[in-house]
Amino acid sequence: MTHETKDVAARRSALIERLTEKAVLLYNYEGSDRASLRYLCGFTGEGALVVSAKETVLVTDSRYTEQVGRETAEIRIQEERDWMGAGIVSVLQGLGLERVAIVSKRVTQHWFDATGKLGGPTLVPEADLVNDLRAVKSPTEIESLRKAARLADDAMARLVPEIRVGMDEAQVALRLEWLMREAGSEGIAFDINVSAGENSALNHYNPVLGRSELRRGDLLLFDFGACVNGYRSDITRTLSVGKPSGQAQAIYDVVLQANIAAIAVARAGATGIEVDAAARDLIKKAGYGDRFGHGLGHGIGLEIHERPALSPQSKDTLARGMVTTIEPGVYIPGVGGVRIEDDVVITDEGCEVITSFPKDRLIQVGT
Ligand code: ZN
Ligand code: ZN
Repeated sequence: MTHETKDVAARRSALIERLTEKAVLLYNYEGSDRASLRYLCGFTGEGALVVSAKETVLVTDSRYTEQVGRETAEIRIQEERDWMGAGIVSVLQGLGLERVAIVSKRVTQHWFDATGKLGGPTLVPEADLVNDLRAVKSPTEIESLRKAARLADDAMARLVPEIRVGMDEAQVALRLEWLMREAGSEGIAFDINVSAGENSALNHYNPVLGRSELRRGDLLLFDFGACVNGYRSDITRTLSVGKPSGQAQAIYDVVLQANIAAIAVARAGATGIEVDAAARDLIKKAGYGDRFGHGLGHGIGLEIHERPALSPQSKDTLARGMVTTIEPGVYIPGVGGVRIEDDVVITDEGCEVITSFPKDRLIQVGT
């Protein structure tokens, strides 16, 4: 048994312990739940997985015959051309199931209705069964996240001396991707956000929205991550092109204090609301309460947004082994924004910060 085979088998056992039904069905159709499928059996292609105490069956089609052999072990593989419809129903019937839990957040209403009409077992929606399990990471998973964080940090450190006034945001983003991939990242964790000047005030910046050339006096925000064994890091740093304005420096100092305050209270047993509030109260007191619209952070793993949530609405409590971001920000429309995002591993005593690119002062580039 390889290390990974043992890991995925243990995850399936943990899932079965949480089940109120005899089995659970999970789909990955056009990437709809790629992460959970990989998490439970190692397979990165498309298919349907049935996990029960009796047996685990992966139903896929002939496109994946070779791949499935390489990526999975100790589970039954069944090829069905129609694994979205009649194929999966016959597998469930073959297992003698009358009811089956379905990981419902990632299936469409259309599929649910169509499959319901095929006369198979009753489908019982279970929204967060696998997501809850994925929230707490094993030492192996944490090691992958650590490596992904290091790749992102190192790429940023190599990029900084290359940045020049007049470069284009897209050019800078492409170079950052190149540096991460060259060092061994499997790809980018998500679309890289490099935004300069007033563009940095847009939380989900899209380069078509404005000018994109780096100018002296711009705030320059980077939000990006690397990917190792499917695990994604997520880091934001804000730099200054040349000398920052007094206002930019003031915002930076507030956001940095908020980032540090939240890291100081993040620990097993703290709630998502409490950790968020540690940063948010500080930003409010500095007069920027209405300029920090998003939540403080989110879990990371095989996907870039996982449980738990750190926000004023969070229902989550932190536990040892969770890995989350801490990312306060202040955004002034027409001027620019600052966000400082770290990745942390939650422990009983506090948290360990696994992103290490310097943040303690507003770094000047392009000079
Ligand atoms: Zn981010
Ligand atoms: Zn994030």
